[in-house]
Amino acid sequence: MMLQGLSEKLQGVFANLKKKGKLSEKDVKEAMREVRVALLEADVNFQVVKKFIKTVREKSTGQEILNSLTPGQQVIKIVRDELQELMGGQNEGLNLNTHPAPIMLVGLQGAGKTTMSVKLAKKLSQDNKKVLLVAADIYRPAAIKQLESMAEQQEIDLFQLGTNNSPVDICKAAMEHAKKYGHDILIFDTAGRLHVDDKLMDELDDIQQATSPCETLLVVDAMTGQDAVNVAQNFNDKLGISGVVLTKLDGDTRGGAAISIKAVTGAPIKYIGTGEKVENLEVFHPDRMASRILG
Ligand code: GDP
Repeated sequence: MMLQGLSEKLQGVFANLKKKGKLSEKDVKEAMREVRVALLEADVNFQVVKKFIKTVREKSTGQEILNSLTPGQQVIKIVRDELQELMGGQNEGLNLNTHPAPIMLVGLQGAGKTTMSVKLAKKLSQDNKKVLLVAADIYRPAAIKQLESMAEQQEIDLFQLGTNNSPVDICKAAMEHAKKYGHDILIFDTAGRLHVDDKLMDELDDIQQATSPCETLLVVDAMTGQDAVNVAQNFNDKLGISGVVLTKLDGDTRGGAAISIKAVTGAPIKYIGTGEKVENLEVFHPDRMASRILG
């Protein structure tokens, strides 16, 4: 199960609280100390944890909570609501307000961009959209091959010009192609590198300027924990991202990225990847994620 370690720890803390019946301020403080440790162990950003604990403690130690019939339950509800808030409150759907609507996927190499572009294309085409995948990673011929074969398997249209044109020219040509052939949505699978660098950012910026994407989605690997959050902040500063797609949440990821990214960067998580297969894509719902974590 996703985020198992964190989930088990929090459930342990709350089982104790519920058993107690009546709660003192000290009981709540003690529980919050354990919650704090659990969140830090799950690799949640330190500042985010600090603020979270402060808010929950303030809300949980009021007399109306402590003197209520079920103080433990109320504290758990406060934690759940705050956790949901932290992760963005409600799901924010895709903003696809132009026709055709370009979606640009960006991220570091290996984050899962190519896989995600096909997952997203499949999902949108199931919603009766005509989708065009665009191979804009010209530095790795293998990436184009991979996209080509996945697109073919899933019967999604692919636009590619090989490796001899610049990514920005490929994306511009793809826009013309989409207009001509009536595609509703384009998905640009852009190049990634091992580290954030200026050349990559300039290239992505050029594509953004030339195509005005409705969405610039950053694909990040949840397994990389706090690094994922740093990468998100970096891309957001340089490019302005409209949302995040968190991949590899199926592994034994500790979950810190899922909890911290929105709070640190302001960019909401829109989708999550939960496996290598095309159908392993979920819309990210902060409320459901909070419930998963708290059991
Ligand atoms: P890119 O370099 O960003 O385009 O990354 P790829 O799409 O090539 O993915 C890199 C590796 O991660 C591949 O082996 C994918 O099968 C794998 N992968 C992608 N998404 C997921 C996911 O959600 N879960 C798991 N377990 N593996 C994934």
